[in-house]
Amino acid sequence: MACDARAVLLVTRQMEGTSTNVARQRIELFCSLLPDHAGPHRDEAQNQEWVVVKGRASMVVRDEDEDERQRDD
Ligand SMILES: [Zn+2]
Repeated sequence: MACDARAVLLVTRQMEGTSTNVARQRIELFCSLLPDHAGPHRDEAQNQEWVVVKGRASMVVRDEDEDERQRDD
C-alpha cells in the first residue's frame, strides 16, 4: 500500500540569452510513501517531493539547470 497521491512535474530549462523558462518534459508523479505519512509527498523514482495546496492541482516545476548542479554531489 502506498499514499499514491499524484502530481504533475514540469521540467523546465532556461532559454539561453533570455529569461524565459520553457517546459521540456511533463512527468506524472506518484507518491510512494506510506498512507497518512507526515511531511511532503515523495516520488522515489523521480526523486521529487511535493506538497499539496488545498483547492489547487498539484504541480511541481523543476528547473533542469538546477537539477544538474545537484548531481555534482
Ligand atoms: Zn504521499
